[in-house]
Amino acid sequence: MNQTPQPMVKLSTIDKTWADGTRALNSVDLEVPEGQFCVILGPSGAGKSTLLRAVNGLVRPTGGAVHVDGVELTPANERDIRKRVAMIHQHFNLATRASVAANVLSGALPDVSLARALCGWFHPQQREKACHYLERVGLKPEHLHRRAGELSGGQQQRVGIARAFMLDPKVVLADEPVASLDPQISRDILTLLKDAARELNATVVCSLHQVDLAREFGDRIVGMRSGEIVFDGAPDEFDDQRLNRLYQNADWGDGEPDTSREDTPELEAAGGM
Ligand code: ADP
Repeated sequence: MNQTPQPMVKLSTIDKTWADGTRALNSVDLEVPEGQFCVILGPSGAGKSTLLRAVNGLVRPTGGAVHVDGVELTPANERDIRKRVAMIHQHFNLATRASVAANVLSGALPDVSLARALCGWFHPQQREKACHYLERVGLKPEHLHRRAGELSGGQQQRVGIARAFMLDPKVVLADEPVASLDPQISRDILTLLKDAARELNATVVCSLHQVDLAREFGDRIVGMRSGEIVFDGAPDEFDDQRLNRLYQNADWGDGEPDTSREDTPELEAAGGM
């Protein structure tokens, strides 16, 4: 008898109310199967980022449960689960003064002891893997020792993708990964992300506010508005009527990017709940 495989990511009636009373997520249920490229689409403030961050414990829901690969996320296991859940950020979150190579290697940090990391000690296999991914994302050997901050936005996001894949993640969370890039580079980056994920059979949950990109790259579109899922289906079911309903009177989120919450995972996990 065929058994339905368990979802790789499962959110069960997730709520998130921030300390100031803002209800960012309202009874959200979502199951994402292994290997799917699931796009979370919606206007600014819809709750996309909060949802993504709930999946790796950077945001602790005020209600409901999160399961990753069948394991319920708890404060006790979130560090372990984060080793298998990589994150790609809108503003890249690179150490801009460190080299490209160091940034990619930092993706392996959860598997390297602090003492070794402080000495810059990485296993030769990790160095090889970093080189493999740098090549995979289209960066050249001469980029390796450049400071990350000297690269263009598109190149920085390539570094962000290489870093994310260093630990063979089961899940990749991409929070508006192309919001600050121009349309052609956005397509290149999303193609790269989708192909790299497919090679590993990694599940991707990617928030976007660009409808054309969501339709082009999503295996599935989940439309969010005011902390709720208001559409869930295949990209070809997401017609203009549904699009208008999702964005009616909404802020398209094309304005100045909000960098005020692009904080480090540790800080946010410790104090931002
Ligand atoms: P999106 O990613 O779709 O733009 P967010 O998940 O960032 O939406 O935000 C959802 C809602 O939660 C918004 O109203 C936002 O202002 C609010 N919010 C997000 N983070 C915080 C926070 N740390 N404190 C208070 N409100 C927050």
